[in-house]
Amino acid sequence: MAGLTHMLLLVGVIGALLPLDVVGAPSGTSERYQVLTVTPQTEDDVQTLHLIKTNPNLEVSFWTYPGAAGQAVDLMVSSSRLKQLQKHLEKGNFTTEVKIENVEELARQQMAGSSRPSEIASLGLQPTGFDYGKYHTYQEIFYWTRNITDAYRKMTRLHHLGMTFEGRWIHGIQISTALQRDTSNAALRPALYFQAGMHAREWIGPATIMFMTASLLDQYGTDKDVTTLLDTFDVFIVPLVNADGYAYTWTSEPNARAWRKTRTNNTGSDCVGVDPNRNFAVKFADEGASQDPCSDQYCGPFPFFAVEVYNVAQFLVSQPGVSIKGFIDFHSYSQLWMTPYGYTKELPPDYKAQLEGCNESIASLKAVYGTEYQCGSIANVINYLSSGSSADFTYIKLNITYSYGVELRDAGKYGFLLPPDQIIPSGTETLAGLVTYGLFVKGKLP
Ligand SMILES: [Zn+2]
Repeated sequence: MAGLTHMLLLVGVIGALLPLDVVGAPSGTSERYQVLTVTPQTEDDVQTLHLIKTNPNLEVSFWTYPGAAGQAVDLMVSSSRLKQLQKHLEKGNFTTEVKIENVEELARQQMAGSSRPSEIASLGLQPTGFDYGKYHTYQEIFYWTRNITDAYRKMTRLHHLGMTFEGRWIHGIQISTALQRDTSNAALRPALYFQAGMHAREWIGPATIMFMTASLLDQYGTDKDVTTLLDTFDVFIVPLVNADGYAYTWTSEPNARAWRKTRTNNTGSDCVGVDPNRNFAVKFADEGASQDPCSDQYCGPFPFFAVEVYNVAQFLVSQPGVSIKGFIDFHSYSQLWMTPYGYTKELPPDYKAQLEGCNESIASLKAVYGTEYQCGSIANVINYLSSGSSADFTYIKLNITYSYGVELRDAGKYGFLLPPDQIIPSGTETLAGLVTYGLFVKGKLP
């Protein structure tokens, strides 16, 4: 017991020295968090969930959002608020089950084996030593982007998209087998763009995209499809858009592991953060976004208010010599491969082709381990609207026909607390889907 106390104190000291990027599980609090799966049976029940969501006293963190009656919702609640929440639920006909008994325990497992900040500099110099089977801190990802582009310098370029609100770099990696080409008079080279880490708590996104990046580079020249893909396209990868939010999820602040938004200050409110996937300049602040700064789907006061979102959009429109033909924004969880639109349940004019691309991709993904994904338009699949999202922006405003939002593993058992032993399987199967997706887009090139 004394040993444990000592360890907790030590974590506390490190936390005091490094307020931004503490490595360590939440500690020093007796509060326990649970995740419940709650299924509303009636429209009134759905309304009750919306009231719970906007009730600051309950401090309930929604892991998935209310849609229709019969559609289950995952929510996280602390032991001290559980009784209050139950009182609200008792008014309706909800079915409730405990999904995750002890959030801290799983969160601690996810953080196991990541490096202390002091160890990172040395680890960072050895790209071969990078362990893709673990979750990594912001600093580790930062060094990884520098090192992998250095190790593969003949076919990669490191981009700085800009800084986050709190001053962290947002890195992009360009894989190009045509880096030496003369772009002065050449035709535009087709490109694909992939990103992850828009939502802080969705750790499997950056982990999966890093694994896929390394695999693409490693398999170029040996795997036929990967080679065709990289001979056809420049590939842009932004592994961690919302670096501030992500760093925050690694701290011991109460509730931090479930943080979704950026860490942007909001004028006139004590509530922090913007939902970056509601802050794009497309159908902004429409139905399917909140204008309440305290909501975790807060769209911000104006489009591109979140500098992270601005940087991404700016990067997308300012790549010389290329024409971006495909876009995927990786999120988690639910195992969905979604086409536009998010803002309406109406289907886009290119839906048939977009759906075809999805079906081919998830078939390849499934062929690896049997993991089932679902296709459909965002608003129809999740069964609620989301306006101002990345895939709608790239499709509607940038005319990238093959724009998707993908929700990675799992189907709901662990949610955001997906154990690290699922990272490499997720990366392996998603890469199969991604390569098929790329070849599909290649087939649609003029
Ligand atoms: Zn997300």
